[in-house]
Amino acid sequence: PVTRPAEIQESRLKLPVVGEEQKIMEAIHNNNVVVICGATGSGKTTQVPQFLFEAGYGSPDSPTPGLIGVTQPRKVAAVSMSKRVGQELGNHSHKVAYQIRFEGTADDKTAVKFMTDGVLLREVSNAISLKKYSAVIIDEAHERSVNTDILIGMLSRVVKLREEMAAEDKSIKPLKLIIMSATLRIDDLTKNPVLFPSPPPVLDVEGRQFPVTVHFARQTRHDYVEEAYKKILRGHRKLPQGGFLIFLTGHDEISRLSKLLKSSSTGLNSAAYPKVRISANDAPLEVEDIEFGNTNDTTQDDYNEVEIVDDVDDEGNEEDDAEFDIPDQEGGTGPLKMHILPLYSLLPTKEQMKVFEPPPKGSRQIILATNVAETSLTIPGIQYVFDCGRSKERRFDKDNGVQSYEISWVSKASANQRAGRAGRTGPGHCYRLYSSAVYERDFREFADPELLRMPIEGVVLQLKAMRLQHVVNFPFPTPPERQSLAKAEKLLKYLSAVTPEGQATDIGTTMARFPLPPRFARILLVGHLHDCMPYTIAMVAGLSVADIFIPETQAIPAIAEREEGTYRTNDDVKAETEQQQIRKRYNEVHRNFRSLDDTSDAIKLLQAVGEFAHDPTEEWCADHFARFKGLNESLKLRRQITNLLQKDIPAFANLTFQEKLDRPSTKQIAALKQMVAAGFIDQVAIRGDLAPVPPELQRRPGRAIDVPYIPLHPPATQDDADKLVYIHPSSSLAHRSTQELPDYIVYSHLQRQAPSVDGMKRPKTRMLALTNVT
Ligand code: ADP
Ligand code: MG
Repeated sequence: PVTRPAEIQESRLKLPVVGEEQKIMEAIHNNNVVVICGATGSGKTTQVPQFLFEAGYGSPDSPTPGLIGVTQPRKVAAVSMSKRVGQELGNHSHKVAYQIRFEGTADDKTAVKFMTDGVLLREVSNAISLKKYSAVIIDEAHERSVNTDILIGMLSRVVKLREEMAAEDKSIKPLKLIIMSATLRIDDLTKNPVLFPSPPPVLDVEGRQFPVTVHFARQTRHDYVEEAYKKILRGHRKLPQGGFLIFLTGHDEISRLSKLLKSSSTGLNSAAYPKVRISANDAPLEVEDIEFGNTNDTTQDDYNEVEIVDDVDDEGNEEDDAEFDIPDQEGGTGPLKMHILPLYSLLPTKEQMKVFEPPPKGSRQIILATNVAETSLTIPGIQYVFDCGRSKERRFDKDNGVQSYEISWVSKASANQRAGRAGRTGPGHCYRLYSSAVYERDFREFADPELLRMPIEGVVLQLKAMRLQHVVNFPFPTPPERQSLAKAEKLLKYLSAVTPEGQATDIGTTMARFPLPPRFARILLVGHLHDCMPYTIAMVAGLSVADIFIPETQAIPAIAEREEGTYRTNDDVKAETEQQQIRKRYNEVHRNFRSLDDTSDAIKLLQAVGEFAHDPTEEWCADHFARFKGLNESLKLRRQITNLLQKDIPAFANLTFQEKLDRPSTKQIAALKQMVAAGFIDQVAIRGDLAPVPPELQRRPGRAIDVPYIPLHPPATQDDADKLVYIHPSSSLAHRSTQELPDYIVYSHLQRQAPSVDGMKRPKTRMLALTNVT
């Protein structure tokens, strides 16, 4: 029996899901597939695994001894939920574990295992019957992440397989599949005969949701960070106790707002901080764990090609404050302090966990979050939500594969989820930083599943490696377009991962074993020439980890623009000097990273990854304008890849992991560049003047980043100007003179900023260069 701490026991009883325990367990008993819907915070994630546990699932001496697996689309959620459920299980807390890509706490006592969906996906591809498990819960199914969709498709077959096995062999039990969703919009799963021939029962657990009053802004401003700042300050002054949750699109916005708020509470004048322009491409997307993802996310476009100008201000309009007047409530919090906490995926886990702790006495919790907080995590004590209404999404142009990070409106469904976060503990308020007209006109009802928005070569390779030659036949909840499937197949053929008939080759099957996108897996498999293997591994690890370098715009503090006619103060001079010093250091650090080779970003990354391994500390990262989280992950990935190679590929049986590497030789560097090219043979661009038909230029480009290149596999567009691509300003090659640019460049992505709002100038398509080829 489970003995729970008294306060846990008490708070459990308030959860709607707990009231439905019997109904839920009966449905699971009578059906192998069950769908549970319930509003965020109703107790699905924390309670349903415990019901199963208490019913004997996961206990070695019960009829259902296999593990209870729970998947999450996000690492943050997998870790924090396993901790929470551990606490709730009192005397059995040691039986709850988590497993994320590089870290896990599972042991032979584990009964409940939280994991990212990518982890389970890998397990299914190694052992299709999932015999280790007696029940699998797929959580947050409404988010429709690529991994979740693929998992649901696969598990629908695993359930069938286990039924068949159980019919033949009494010692084998059927697998219970429980799909949980925060919304009822899951027809793609429940009314999909390809997936589930007889529709699974859907249990609707009523969310105990307090009313949330939604306040729209009268005007929608471009600079919503500034707008959020003003609203938060006013709200903080006027609103009664209760936490604030602010939804922004990325960590750059979060740190800007955090700085603004902190300076205001220490008495600094906010006007001393500059208005930062909004660039849709500034920071990486909040992708937690896309193991199928295409290459990496180090693609901040901090290059100022789009500028959005602020609306005319109507500051000081007292009328605006009416929205903060709450009837029947003592307004105002007097001397309350603001306790400001960021929450986004790149934040170290330890920092993320802070949002669950109660704020210090006499202060108000103010959480600045990306959509991590939309459904996965329930943060206690939130009563007021401030929603910018946008999110950052990675988009791919279906025709030409050009990638962009776009900040765009979320769906109405998401906006309502966000608002709902205010109504968990009592009646709440949601302040939308956009007008109701914009909401009605510009917000879609629901978002598309991620699978329809991403390149899917990783998915296709996984499926083929599992002997599914005709991927069209896979029971996708929402099938991808044939065009995307065809594109993925074509690339896999280039990479020799599938045969012309579409079957996985031996190379392809091996590639599918690596937790890497197919291109990177391919590089690894040619990576042994000239004793390069440890370097190849390090380079691939660097390339596949998001966000190693902190972009210039974030590393170097901005300086306020002076209003005309005012004098520079001593503080201004100080700030400018400091900025110059940081810039100088920044440039020096990056120059050093190019010292192995100054024409290749891939080699630069290798150098950073390698140098970090000699001193893998936060301090080193701070000194080198690099992100610890990313680099630390690259280190783990190096170890993991080395193990996989050593275990799985006889030719590498003698490979051992060396954490600290010497500098590679010139010959090795040349070989490494060719290996990169092997993974990107379809992404080579030739310098414009060498092309059979050189582009006409109005004048000779003065800077490297203005020199046109032409992709050899041209993207399918009619428009001539669209064929030209340019070096990205963050590239090593951007530092060269126009005379010393390589003839050919291998690139990892093409990227284009979203066109500016006023549609003035079409932004250039930029190559995220990997290397020159010689
Ligand atoms: P759902 O999955 O339905 O969205 P959860 O099971 O995640 O709901 O959350 C149920 C309740 O448990 C919430 O009200 C939340 O406040 C509480 N809770 C979850 N995690 C924690 C935690 N780490 N600390 C304190 N309370 C938590
Ligand atoms: Mg949940």
